[in-house]
Amino acid sequence: MTETNAFQMVVSRIDAICDRLNIKDAYRLRLEKCERELTVNFPVRMDDGTVKVFTGFRVHHNDSRGPAKGGIRYHPDVTLDETRALAALMTLKAAVVNIPFGGAKGAVVCNPELMSQAELERMTRRYTSEISILIGPDRDIPAPDVGTNPQVMAWIMDTYSMIKGHTVLAVVTGKPVGIGGSKGRLGATGRGCMLNARLVAQHLGIGLEGATVAVQGFGNVGSVVARLLAREGSKVVAISDVKGGIYNEKGLDVEAVFHYNQQTGLVVDFKDAENITNTELLALPCDILVPAAIEDQIVKANAADVKARIIVEGANAPITPEADRILNNRVFVVPDVLANAGGVIVSYFEWVQDAQAFFWSEDEVNHQLQVVMENAFSEVLEMSQHQKVDMRNAAYMLAIKRIADDMEARGIFP
Ligand code: NAD
Repeated sequence: MTETNAFQMVVSRIDAICDRLNIKDAYRLRLEKCERELTVNFPVRMDDGTVKVFTGFRVHHNDSRGPAKGGIRYHPDVTLDETRALAALMTLKAAVVNIPFGGAKGAVVCNPELMSQAELERMTRRYTSEISILIGPDRDIPAPDVGTNPQVMAWIMDTYSMIKGHTVLAVVTGKPVGIGGSKGRLGATGRGCMLNARLVAQHLGIGLEGATVAVQGFGNVGSVVARLLAREGSKVVAISDVKGGIYNEKGLDVEAVFHYNQQTGLVVDFKDAENITNTELLALPCDILVPAAIEDQIVKANAADVKARIIVEGANAPITPEADRILNNRVFVVPDVLANAGGVIVSYFEWVQDAQAFFWSEDEVNHQLQVVMENAFSEVLEMSQHQKVDMRNAAYMLAIKRIADDMEARGIFP
């Protein structure tokens, strides 16, 4: 999130929903603040022998419905405010899909691309030690986010386990499969986006077969959703990454693009396609647009150019509130808190498997993901029809009502 007051943006949305649902102040006021915020400044010895002091955060937004859950971001521009906003989005996301977690987020201000593996490992282990007063399998379970990956999760699990004196698999999700990771976790967010695209297409009576699709971003989320939609019979006409995009109105061979991308790190200059810009991709005529790159891509300036019938938000916050108002009524938007919740749903399955020390097949994971996602989609759609609001407002309503009811049931200590 680039806005300097990203958390305030989330709070404004929460506030508007609380007004509409007549949520009592006792619960509204709690959702407008983060429950716990830890800032840590810690030393790391670099490869050249010098010592650098890094700043990191771990924020719990709300844990009324269960242990706090949320990723850890390694990025040079992360701030405490952005971490708060992402933690609040996690509270809402977990509640929308009705899994028993609250919301958290963590971050370290660093540029992982400029660090060696050894430096990253030392930084991760020291950060884990610093935040170990907050995390734990029953309290707060981190996961990967921008700049972190299964290897980083493995170091976190190992460090926490060394502090405790025994192996604690369930302290973190998104781990390698051999050490308590779940099958299907890596592709879960993209799979969840595909499931949402299928559900909307069914709802609008167009079906996925032959539907035209444009995907922005070809990373963990974008590449999976593009490949799965192609397998569903959709015509993926455009794909992009940070370096530019490609377009073929007859449909791209997505598997060939995937292999080309694996070999070159690019999608531009792929044979059988013309190069386009990211701005052009977002304005293409298509049935389904999947922004799966970064935030703030559809903004006030380009929202009127969007010609897609459906947008499935693979990325977090790719549409700004102003753009949302411009798209309103014209485009069916599946909001991030629902569309990209596949990752946290399968993280929940990973946590359950670790706790039981009983691991599921990939088919079982994918099946259970589909069950949870279909249920969440139909609940949000029903709320949207009942309250006559768009899917984003409906998802927020469902989540906030759920959290407020659960806070009420628990009461206030003492
Ligand atoms: P990733 O780093 O694997 O891929 C990001 C892709 O976006 C890359 O292809 C990159 O080239 C492209 N990109 C980056 N900047 C761009 C720009 N300015 N214009 C166009 N393309 C650009 O990341 P990811 O894991 O696929 O995550 C993508 C988005 O989905 C992020 O917003 C992330 O927060 C969100 N998300 C991811 C998950 C997950 O499980 N990975 C879960 C929920 C939400």
